[in-house]
Amino acid sequence: MTTPLDPLNSKAISSCQICGGRHFQPVLFIGYVPPVNTMPEIGTTPGAEMRFPLEMLRCSDCSLVQIGYDVDQRILFPHEYPYLSGTTRILRDNFRDLAERCRDLFGAGPDTQVIDIGANDGTLLKPFRDIGCKVLGIEPSQAADVATGQGIPMVKDYFSKATASRVAAEHGQAHIITAANVFAHMTDIHAIVEGIKALLRPDGVFISENHYLLSLIETLQYDTIYHEHLRYYAVGSLRRLFEMHDMEIFRLQRIPTHGGSIRVFAARKGTQKIDASYAEGVEAERRFGLDDGRALADFRTRVLQSKLDLMKLLADLKRQKSRIFGIGAPSRASTLVTYTGLDDATIDCVVEVKGSHKLDKYMPGTRIPVLDEEKLYREQPEYALLLSWHIADELAANLRKRGYNGRFIAPLPEPRIF
Ligand SMILES: [Zn+2]
Repeated sequence: MTTPLDPLNSKAISSCQICGGRHFQPVLFIGYVPPVNTMPEIGTTPGAEMRFPLEMLRCSDCSLVQIGYDVDQRILFPHEYPYLSGTTRILRDNFRDLAERCRDLFGAGPDTQVIDIGANDGTLLKPFRDIGCKVLGIEPSQAADVATGQGIPMVKDYFSKATASRVAAEHGQAHIITAANVFAHMTDIHAIVEGIKALLRPDGVFISENHYLLSLIETLQYDTIYHEHLRYYAVGSLRRLFEMHDMEIFRLQRIPTHGGSIRVFAARKGTQKIDASYAEGVEAERRFGLDDGRALADFRTRVLQSKLDLMKLLADLKRQKSRIFGIGAPSRASTLVTYTGLDDATIDCVVEVKGSHKLDKYMPGTRIPVLDEEKLYREQPEYALLLSWHIADELAANLRKRGYNGRFIAPLPEPRIF
């Protein structure tokens, strides 16, 4: 039920997003967290701001791990949404691997229509275009304009069943539909899967890439819990979802993006040969304790310890009057900042690359300014806190190359200085 206090259509999730069950096991309550794009401009007086509860829950019936509160998509993904994905090497390499794999496995080439849902700036589609495929992106944000500018055809809209039917009528059904890092972000997942089926040829393949729950727990990535990320997929929960729509998983591949993701190949039941990787994935989750919730039981304790360790490390550095700059303001930084209580007295600023939409604003829920990366090289603070710690090595190497001489702090999984 929506209450009058909930802005727009935001609401508590009262039943499991996949199975509809109403029994949840609480995993971790991060706190009341502002939407990650709540970034007032530097110099503005603090005003009233929205905050929403952020809690990770596990469904006792189907084991889907999910968050307990659904913030209205118009708040989370406004048309001016600043995130552009075409920035890290790992992502570009990953999408090249995806296109080449589709060429080798399914013969993707000039006769193949590929449609990418949540296509952002077209980073995923470019390698498909390079191998000759017909490509089309669906993307509601301004990032679509970047893709269009590079000659990638885009439908600038939110993905829904209606959008799917319209695109199918105008462009035909797709041989391959991809959804990278968006399939866990969309509300009403059953309607989304039905939309995908409407847009997919009978023998077509749907490939989603999702941050992987097993990796999240293994390497303590609690900072990937945020409102956009409604569900935290494992093979077990995805299998259940696809089964409800007469689809099945036929191949799995663990990939390094976003600190550990899983690429899941699905199709209409009986249309594809089931690869051995599927059974291997199911077995790996059973051993890890994902199917019965064992793995989540000590996650909370480890997260808390990690937070306290980070606070101690920072406390020692501040006692020595060290200056600490944060590096990068990804969505996950907002969760880390809120959960560990970082403020503008702990870290002087967060620096971002030139051209970032986040420059000259405050980090969500704080007075920590986001400033041009030039400041890091000019002022050479003693420490640089890597908020995108999942790509710590790539980041540190780049910052060194550009002239930073201080030391680095990786906040997770165990805080370390290097
Ligand atoms: Zn469930």
